[in-house]
Amino acid sequence: MEIVDFVKFKKEEIKKEVSLFDEVSFLIIQVGDNEASNAYVKGKIKDALEVGIKPVLKKLDENIKEEDILSIIDEANKDESICGIIVQLPLPSHIDEKKIALSISYKKDIDGFHPLSLFTPCTPKGIIMYLDSLNYDYESKNALIIGRSNIVGKPIASLLLNKNCNVTITHSHTRRDDLFSYVKNADLIIVAVGKTYFLDDTFLFKDDAYIIDVGINRENGKLKGDVIPNLKVKYQSPVPKGVGLLTRVALLENILEGKRNGI
Ligand code: NAP
Repeated sequence: MEIVDFVKFKKEEIKKEVSLFDEVSFLIIQVGDNEASNAYVKGKIKDALEVGIKPVLKKLDENIKEEDILSIIDEANKDESICGIIVQLPLPSHIDEKKIALSISYKKDIDGFHPLSLFTPCTPKGIIMYLDSLNYDYESKNALIIGRSNIVGKPIASLLLNKNCNVTITHSHTRRDDLFSYVKNADLIIVAVGKTYFLDDTFLFKDDAYIIDVGINRENGKLKGDVIPNLKVKYQSPVPKGVGLLTRVALLENILEGKRNGI
């Protein structure tokens, strides 16, 4: 099933389960009026409404004090009607993002950024949900992860290890020659670098490799992935309409999970 169809199917499932509860609600805190953040927040609200989840948006002034954001989060941590809290990043430079992230209760941290969070970060979770839906056989596969960020590379590595993959993580200090040989031996490649067409046909791939392209690069108004399209492999996820959609549906799944767990 293509990602677009999987996401439609998943949203239907979530909608059915949400309807069993009186109310499923989550809070989005946005500080300032950053254009990209406006678009992301709008998307999250639209997705939530589509499946019957109630979004509560607190859009705060750019100059708000850190302590005022902390007290809004503290209130939401205690509010039983709110089962998840998101703080849209980036925050203005006078606010300590780490302090804010740590102030969200680990029971309500649906982005999965708190070290004790009960939730899996949305992008890795969405990728695994999709691979599972394809009945991907993880057992003993060589998984290569290009990029070691805290929101993608590291958590997906841990999830794939738990699925019995042999996991290699590469980064900007990885020697080019080594990267070529890792790619050549990889059964599953997750690319999260943030450079247009970082992975291209100068690399050699296994014919039956699966490639998941996490990258989103804006070029002349168009979205491009980290992987050049149409490589000769068994599966390659598209950009756009790929991992971005999986990330969004995984967030809905996390909100519902919070509700299911009675948070
Ligand atoms: P990030 O924090 O910017 O990290 C990029 C990673 O790529 C770093 O670990 C960096 O290595 C590594 N890297 C840079 N140059 C490299 C090279 N030449 N060889 C190997 N590794 C290299 O990235 P991120 O937040 O994970 O995001 C990555 C991309 O995914 C971005 O385009 C972002 O927009 C996109 N993204 C998409 C979604 C989605 O839902 N589709 C979600 C999250 C992110 P060092 O650690 O050594 O610097």
